[in-house]
Amino acid sequence: MSEGQVWAVLVAAGRGERLGEDQPKAFVRLGGLPLLAEPLRRLDDSEWIDAVVVVAPPEWEEPAILLAEEIGASKVSACVSGGETRTESVRAGVAEVPEDAAVVLVHDAARPLMPADIVPRLLDALGQGFDGAVPGLPVSDTVKRVAGDAVAETLRRDELVTVQTPQAFIAAVLRAALARGEEGTDCASLVEAAGGRVTVVEGDPRLLKVTTRADLDRIASWL
Ligand code: C5P
Repeated sequence: MSEGQVWAVLVAAGRGERLGEDQPKAFVRLGGLPLLAEPLRRLDDSEWIDAVVVVAPPEWEEPAILLAEEIGASKVSACVSGGETRTESVRAGVAEVPEDAAVVLVHDAARPLMPADIVPRLLDALGQGFDGAVPGLPVSDTVKRVAGDAVAETLRRDELVTVQTPQAFIAAVLRAALARGEEGTDCASLVEAAGGRVTVVEGDPRLLKVTTRADLDRIASWL
């Protein structure tokens, strides 16, 4: 199985130092299970997704596989060890996706509450001819670029969005962008730098990323 298929790469290899826990962020408890269980179950449950690659923190591959089994995540095709950076981890995950897969979705495990309607919204955008599609939210604060201790520029707020994951890409385009060897804080920036056309679809506040204990508490209260 792979032709024309949609593969998800779930990156969970971050250390999550700002949470101040002993274990990596993906294994911090959320509602009685390691955090990783929630995004993995949601990807596995999506009717649009055919297979999932989990990118685990080094030496946590086995606990990740056992967790996938425990929650019955039957679409998990591989579990690999992540790298030093998010981009390295994405590279490791995409390397497990078969050559003839059509679309790759890359999702942060640190955004556990993926609403089901996000995936078809992203796939629709790819169907319209874009190379990539990302969920985005409007910005409510004014954003300034600073240089040293002075403001260099005030950006036009109506042109800004904050972007989330999952991010969806035509598989060949993402592969080519990753092969350039550059680093980025998201995958879309790599595709953009390689000349790909990326669009923004409506994001969702529930896709909040867990960075601090307060984020984790808020997400737990939404469960
Ligand atoms: O730290 P950051 O906000 O970039 O993390 C976003 C996602 O990327 C998290 O789900 C984290 O587990 C993942 N990540 C990774 N490998 C790294 C760094 C981050 O898989 N080396």
